[in-house]
Order: sequence, then structure tokens, then C-alpha cells
Amino acid sequence: MNHMGGTERKYVADAFDTDWIVPLGPHVDEFEHRLESYLGHDKRVLALSSGTAALHLALTVLGVGAGDEVICQDLTFAASANPVVYLGAKPVFVDSERRTMNIDPELLEEAIADRLSKTGRLPKAIIAVDMYGMPAQLDRIAEVAARYGIPLVEDAAEALGSTFGGRRCGTFGTFAALSFNGNKIITTSGGGALVCPGEEERRRALFFATQAREDRPYYYHEHVGYNYRLSNVCGAIGCGQMEVLPERVERRRHIHGIYTEALADIPGMAVQQNPGPEFDSNFWLTTVQIAPGTGITPDALRLALAAENIESRLLWRPMHMQPVFAEAPYYGHGVSDELFERGLCLPSGSILTDEDIERVAASIHRAVAKN
Ligand SMILES: *Cc1c(COP(=O)(O)O)cnc(C)c1O
Repeated sequence: MNHMGGTERKYVADAFDTDWIVPLGPHVDEFEHRLESYLGHDKRVLALSSGTAALHLALTVLGVGAGDEVICQDLTFAASANPVVYLGAKPVFVDSERRTMNIDPELLEEAIADRLSKTGRLPKAIIAVDMYGMPAQLDRIAEVAARYGIPLVEDAAEALGSTFGGRRCGTFGTFAALSFNGNKIITTSGGGALVCPGEEERRRALFFATQAREDRPYYYHEHVGYNYRLSNVCGAIGCGQMEVLPERVERRRHIHGIYTEALADIPGMAVQQNPGPEFDSNFWLTTVQIAPGTGITPDALRLALAAENIESRLLWRPMHMQPVFAEAPYYGHGVSDELFERGLCLPSGSILTDEDIERVAASIHRAVAKN
């Protein structure tokens, strides 16, 4: 199976033939409409040049600025947190719970209360992540956010196709970010989208995504804008990718199923599972947790696999352990540290065959047996 489904070339050729090679056009519109009908819930979608841009615009439209604080999941990719800093605001990191590996709703509430008592102000936004495709405890997180009147931004960059309580990830926050980077569940070669609650918010985000030009006959600016729109050629790729999204999700889940079965007999090694009936991960990446005493550490296993030309990755290193965020407040109880120390992401790409996955599982068995 190739990364492209087949119809992408047709849509791109159509974009060329109709001369729509700019950062707007019918294919971008169509891609947005396809995302909107896939997500449902009357969301309005704005296609952008990256998922990072989507998070940056979400915070911009929410009015995050210098001196504000934004709560962000600690265990995530740095792109979740960096846009907070772009706006001169300060990230406050909150630890995960074990079941989903995402932000802990109880600790979130403690952090909000503590920030209020320490600074006299509420955080301006909350960024929760559906890490590796696993939905966060989105009902409880949204409930806490609503109780304090703080907007929730769902970083669903890895979770297109996942659902929580039957509802698609990317529809839970006031805003949500999607990514179509080359490594994500579908790709436009590079790209992202901002999922907006309505047309007004989408129009505001579009304004900032296209250099914040005021409606005058000459170039006139009251705000600093960005150049963040997706090109029509990439939109054409996205149209084709939407046609293969369901089978890509199915493929990732199938790969997860093979790993689950093939690694079940290794004591101390646990493949991450949906923690309850309301969770339905796309399993963008299958991850394992390796208990101490299993005889092999995640990094030793990574090296053993690398020796057989198999690429695996350690989990995202928590943000509070990153030098660049050393000064940021952190509310933790040791969970993200432990998940990081014990975790490994296994090869999960939809181009891998069942035999490839079985070969990886066999290598894991050999590496554990040798230690
Ligand atoms: C990929 C990713 C992003 C950023 O998306 P880009 O399109 O690469 O900018 C943000 N958050 C998470 C969790 C991601 O995995």
C-alpha cells in the first residue's frame, strides 16, 4: 500500500489544469467541506499550512497574549506548547493519567485553582492532547474547563478518526487542531486544519491566517497577521486522502491488534489499549509500556530493533523535562516521567504489511529473550 490512495493525483492534476496553484481555491474549499462532513457537529474547518499554525491561530482568536498563562498537557510533542510562547504567554504544564496517557482531569482542576490563588487570574486556555490517537478523558476535561469558563483547545493532530463516546476527536474543544504532516494518519505533504465552533470564529481565524488585512482598498493593518493558509495543490491531495481515511484508520487498528496478540505472552510488556468502551483510538501509533524487571529497557529494545533495521521511538519526552521550558510551572505526580521512562512507540505505518508487523514482534521476542 502506498501512502497516497490513488485519487490524489487526479485532484492535483485538476488543480493544475484549472490553474489553481495559490493558497486558496476550489480544492481547499472541497477539502474543508469533506473534513466538516466527516467531523459533524456543525463545525467549520479552516485548512492551514500546519497543525502548529492551527494551534497558534486558536490561541490568537481566543485572545491569548503577553502575560497570560495557558495550561498545556505535559506529555506531548513540543508543537502543542510552542504556540503559547509565540504569543508571549506562559505555558503551565499538567501531568497525565495512566489510562489514556493524556492530561489528568483532577490535576487539571488543582492546577487551575492553584494558578488562581497564586496569580489572581485564571489561565486563558487549556490545551489537551489525544496522544498517539488515544482520546483524552474529554468529557471530564471539558466539564472542568466549562466550570471555570476557560476555553478548551483539543490538540487532535494525531487523532483524526478516533472517537470518544461515539463522537469524533477534533470536535470537543472550543477549537481543535488537526495535522496533515507527512507522518500523520493522512497527509497533504504538510498541512493542518483549525476546527472552529462556527462561521464567525472561522472568519476571524482566516483573517489572521491571511496577513490580517483590513477590509479597505489599500493594505491596512491593525493587527499582526500570519501567512498560514493551505495551498490549493495541497488541498487537492487532501481531497484524495479523505477518500482513504477510513481504510487508513482501519489499517492502524489492525496493526495494533496484531501487536496486542503477538506480544501478549511477554510478562511486564503491555500494549496500550482503549481503557473503556467510550474510547476508540485510531491507534496512530501502537505503544508499549515495559515494567521494570522485564529484563529490557525501552531504549535497549529500541537499539536491538535498530540493529535489525527496525525504527522505533521513545515516547514524547515530557515538556517539564525540556530545557526550553525549565522555568514553566509544572503540576505533576510522576506519571508522565514514568510513562516516558517505560514507553516505546512501535512501527505502525499503514504501508507496513502484516508480515512486517509480525517480523517486528518476533524481533521484540528475541530481544527480550536475550536479556
Ligand atoms: C504533529 C503534531 C502537531 C503539529 O502538527 P504539524 O502539522 O506538524 O505542525 C501538534 N501536536 C501534536 C500532538 C502533533 O503530533
